[in-house]
Amino acid sequence: MRVVVLGGGYAGVVLTDKLEDRLPADVDLVVVDETGEHLVQHELHRAIRRPEFAGDIVVPLDDIFDRTRVEVATVESVDRDAREIALADGTSLEYDVAAVCLGAASAFYGLPGVEEHAVPLKRLSDASQIRSEFEALAESGGGTVVVGGAGLSGVQTAGELAAFAREENAAVDVVLLEQLDSVAPSFPERFQRAVRDELDREGVDVRTGVTVSRATDEAVETESGDVPYDVFVWTGGIRGPDALDGERVDVRADFSVDDRTVAVGDAARVVDSEGAAVPASAQAAVREARVAARNVETLVADAREHEDGFRPRLEQYTFDSPGWLVSVGDGAVAQVGPTVFRGTAARAAKSGVGASYLAAAGGAREAVALLSEEFGAAGDRE
Ligand SMILES: Cc1cc2nc3c(=O)[nH]c(=O)nc-3n(C[C@H](O)[C@H](O)[C@H](O)COP(=O)(O)OP(=O)(O)OC[C@H]3O[C@@H](n4cnc5c(N)ncnc54)[C@H](O)[C@@H]3O)c2cc1C
Repeated sequence: MRVVVLGGGYAGVVLTDKLEDRLPADVDLVVVDETGEHLVQHELHRAIRRPEFAGDIVVPLDDIFDRTRVEVATVESVDRDAREIALADGTSLEYDVAAVCLGAASAFYGLPGVEEHAVPLKRLSDASQIRSEFEALAESGGGTVVVGGAGLSGVQTAGELAAFAREENAAVDVVLLEQLDSVAPSFPERFQRAVRDELDREGVDVRTGVTVSRATDEAVETESGDVPYDVFVWTGGIRGPDALDGERVDVRADFSVDDRTVAVGDAARVVDSEGAAVPASAQAAVREARVAARNVETLVADAREHEDGFRPRLEQYTFDSPGWLVSVGDGAVAQVGPTVFRGTAARAAKSGVGASYLAAAGGAREAVALLSEEFGAAGDRE
């Protein structure tokens, strides 16, 4: 019997880690990931200003698991009827139970010129491209960076770029555009206000209620006028991965797509046990994966023991956030329960979360390096 986990991001890593303990030893456990590495994506924006940080947010998947076989390959499609994964190299992989954890891709919504002119932020190569474009702009005497979209990735990217400009003494303005009326629009109001204050403190020119309609090579066109730019970064939304035809899979609180397949993390649009839409986030992906692992264990037992067609009872997931943490340049905002805090305390909490997450994922060395970097001791590593 074979269980395949597609994708080694937050959902895939946590799910596989749990399955290593839960599944019988004779079950073949395989993770398929196109990079063969786990990227700590929620820290990716920081690699724009600190390229040396890149090595600390990438963990080889082989270092994380004990009994799991890691297959470095690109998933092209999933045939659920045949229970077969088609890989880009022309081979295929059969499975008994599959977990789709392929994450999301950047959505450009077909806005003319946006995909052509903007750099998204999903991979380390995107972070280095943004850095090179920023450096070229700074060296040429300065100009404007426009960041489109003020969700978690947009606010953190804008904050990082503004701090970079200050640090380099560069005449670069950072403009953050958001279609809705506030930054971090899907978050609690107090958190939004604190994030906005941090962005203001970093000197980001925040413009909310501004809808991007298209882009040329000189300006981002919005319904309220053109915004000229030199560098354009797009963090305006996500869609499903190509392997799922660009769609995020709709699943309910047990993550099942059918009696042999689950979908977890950003690749899925999850509605929890109380009917609430779960926000696409690293935090949710990790928490979902813990419940999904128990459900995969049940599906595996069911596939082995019963051929009667009755669906087993699966556990329901309820989204419950312990709080949120974002970095905004040299500052940070944390929300724990109803309390929102900024400044040093938030910054310390941010480093703690990043480090403990990495340590749990097996990247102890990276966790230590992350802590050193957070506290300004990058040169003192090891
Ligand atoms: C700049 C930035 C800042 C963010 N900040 C935060 C934050 O502060 N807090 C928070 O909770 N969330 C944050 N997020 C969101 C968070 O990173 C995502 O929600 C999270 O990565 C989703 O986890 P996942 O496991 O579903 O997908 P991912 O982590 O994206 O993992 C998907 C995996 O699938 C692999 N893959 C994809 N397609 C294929 C294919 N066809 N074949 C094989 N392998 C494939 C990829 O290589 C990757 O390893 C941020 C995101 C960004 C970009």
